Amino acid sequence: MTTDPQRLLQDQHGRVKRKMRLSLTDRCQFRCQYCMPETPKWLPRDAILRQEEILRIATLAVTQLGITHIRLTGGEPLLRKDVVEITTELAKLKSQGLQKLSMTSNAARLGEFAAPLKAAGLDDVNISLDAIDAELFKTLTKAPLQPVLEGIAAAKKVGLPVKVNAVLMKGQNQDQILPMLNWAAAENVELRFIEFMPLDSGHVWDESLVVTETEILNAVSEQHSVQVLPKGHEPATRYQLKNGPSGGQVFGVIPTISHAFCGSCDRIRITAKGTVFACLFSQTGTELLPLLREGADDETLTKAIRGDIWNKHRGYIDHPGYVERPITMHAMGG
Ligand code: SAM
Ligand code: SF4
Ligand code: SF4
Repeated sequence: MTTDPQRLLQDQHGRVKRKMRLSLTDRCQFRCQYCMPETPKWLPRDAILRQEEILRIATLAVTQLGITHIRLTGGEPLLRKDVVEITTELAKLKSQGLQKLSMTSNAARLGEFAAPLKAAGLDDVNISLDAIDAELFKTLTKAPLQPVLEGIAAAKKVGLPVKVNAVLMKGQNQDQILPMLNWAAAENVELRFIEFMPLDSGHVWDESLVVTETEILNAVSEQHSVQVLPKGHEPATRYQLKNGPSGGQVFGVIPTISHAFCGSCDRIRITAKGTVFACLFSQTGTELLPLLREGADDETLTKAIRGDIWNKHRGYIDHPGYVERPITMHAMGG
């Protein structure tokens, strides 16, 4: 692992990058309307990073660029057949500086994968769950809720720490705030509400559809008294319910729109086709796949990543509102 401050991955605004979101596939069996086009066009298999290419990028990121956290994402990462093998190989990077290996998943296949992933060295999993009402869940995702709940139960059973993320959209699921919070308290899992971001492929995003942090707190306060917890390194603001049967329960809000946290952004993204994206809202990225397949050496690859990240703009705070991008959320990895 590099400890030389000169060699850390840094952008022109002085933000050091420590976290890498690595997309394993653009495919997904869900159709969350805030993410997936109605008729998605999947990348051809050969256009997707192979296992050895993923490992090469991850190894360089950890050993030469100072990345300490890797999060596997997608599409749905559990649709990738070699997901356990990839996890096993990536976990070996813990001896070279990787501190945490995580995953973001819709959990529909976690019932099958929780135990092998835990054994492979996965440290924790964030699960996307936007409603606890089965009918509403089906409307939002076009998928059944039960396998997701079974996936969460399986993760808990094998001791894989779970956080649940819920994206809220006005007129769709803001009435789920209290039911989800009460469910999370009963299940003893931390829930984080995420503000709807202008990245949906259907272009329905409008600021009026965002359920803001203030609105979330107002809804929670109808039933609970809440205290704010000291701010950590994570983008989520964390709160705790003070008393009642759910007293002590912690929840978070990720206020990407109402209080953008770009000033401390320490993330980079690698898409399933091996493109580096410095920001969720970047218009362009740097393609690593041609370099990898042309036999580029380590220096060429790390230079390409450094160059992309150095040019990173300040982020959403500079260009709020709907962003036209060449890539949709399921292809970016969230
Ligand atoms: N399929 C996995 C899942 O859903 O957890 C991983 C990939 S998904 C693209 C990663 C995250 O992006 C999910 O938590 C999802 O809720 C979030 N996401 C997708 N589109 C979004 C949007 N328009 N606004 C906010 N979050 C979004
Ligand atoms: Fe699939 Fe995740 Fe996008 Fe939903 S948010 S469509 S589960 S990739
Ligand atoms: Fe980071 Fe871009 Fe998100 Fe801001 S908008 S927090 S810079 S990824």
